[in-house]
Amino acid sequence: MIKDVNVIQELMDLDKKHFLHPTSPIKQQQDHGPSFIFTEGKGVMLKDVEGNTLIDGMSSLWNVNVGHGREELGKVAMEQMSKLAFSSCFATYSNEPAIRLAAKLAQIAPGDLNATFFTSGGSEANDTAYKLARHYWILKGQPNRKKIISRTKSYHGVAMGSTSATGLKPFRDFINSFDPDFCYADHFSTEDLRNVIEAEGPETIAAFIAEPVQGAGGLHVAPENYFKEVRSICDEYGILFITDEVITGFGRTGKYFGIEHYGVTPDMMCFAKGVTSGYAQLGGVMLSEKIHQDFTELSTGTLLHGYTYSGHPMACAVALKNIEIIERENLIENAEIMGSEMLKGFRWIQGERQIVGKVKGLGLMGGIEIVKDRQTNERFQTPVAPIIVTEAAKRGLICRSVVFDNQDTVVFSPPLIINKEEMARMIDILHDTIAAVETEVL
Ligand code: PLP
Repeated sequence: MIKDVNVIQELMDLDKKHFLHPTSPIKQQQDHGPSFIFTEGKGVMLKDVEGNTLIDGMSSLWNVNVGHGREELGKVAMEQMSKLAFSSCFATYSNEPAIRLAAKLAQIAPGDLNATFFTSGGSEANDTAYKLARHYWILKGQPNRKKIISRTKSYHGVAMGSTSATGLKPFRDFINSFDPDFCYADHFSTEDLRNVIEAEGPETIAAFIAEPVQGAGGLHVAPENYFKEVRSICDEYGILFITDEVITGFGRTGKYFGIEHYGVTPDMMCFAKGVTSGYAQLGGVMLSEKIHQDFTELSTGTLLHGYTYSGHPMACAVALKNIEIIERENLIENAEIMGSEMLKGFRWIQGERQIVGKVKGLGLMGGIEIVKDRQTNERFQTPVAPIIVTEAAKRGLICRSVVFDNQDTVVFSPPLIINKEEMARMIDILHDTIAAVETEVL
């Protein structure tokens, strides 16, 4: 909290003048300044410059899995920075935290995923996966396999490749030019996936990428058999199967990785966010034993892909400690239990309030659809979810709206440490907010 109103005003003015915000409405920022300037975080709570405290119902950006204010993560970062802040991992140079983290990931990842390429975040992880997939097929003597199939309503990030893969069209329209070798299948239909493969030509497809639960695209949980069928279609056509676990990894869905709910193993798995709970910038791609071995046996030159911060010692040290906390405090189990509580709360609100349509979730990823008429599923002409998000924040709860593709959904992703009382408070605020908004819009 900052007591001096002049300092707060100064920050507002400087923000408007100098700070171009990511994924934010520029005009709104210019007219009103930033909606919050946060100064502190503790557990599931965030505090802003004016002293307002809010429940972080989104774990900020689906990532602060172990909650805010963990001193032991700060301590490990400081110790590693003091000892060795940075050293390169190019040209086979290495460092202990990166080695130990790669080994730990091999231990906790599903199936035979056992080798990791490190990045600084999720977009880089996905771009890396596309590039590794294309290079893999060059090594295998099938250089025409370049295309990547992703899904409608998917979000894979904002680097050029990950923007191209993102199935939410506004993100692609924003740049009006992207990698042409991407195509899209319906997010729930394996029949459509098969049709896309046949139409494009199986011999031209390098990989298929999917989020186990779609988050930013509106919280879509795949049907039970979907990924089993995906796995067998990919095997049938010799296509690599990549899962984007950037949100669903590290306990978010009540299992270590989201794909574990579906009993299949991908060939590559991308991760970021929860690997450090946002305490440091880190992501990566894991390869199966077979893909790793093929790379090892077939590669003759240098793997010409690497970020300066691939295997950053401080970020990797933080990740190791973060994973230790997740395990020590049984946070994956807590995510499963509190996820059921959250869904129960959503169902209660659905019973109380007319504008709540379908409610959905897996572990601590949840969403409620807003409808004008529950019987017909008719939507409001202007989405109401953004109003709910603004009003909930005034009442002390951070959540997020998704309005792409004619959706009107409020989504949630609280820290995995959330307890019963905090969840009850979150549901109460949400109910009161929806009750107030309902009287305005109906
Ligand atoms: N993949 C998924 C599923 C995501 O939700 C995100 C970010 O929200 C990304 C990739 C991109 O990650 P980053 O923002 O770290 O680049």
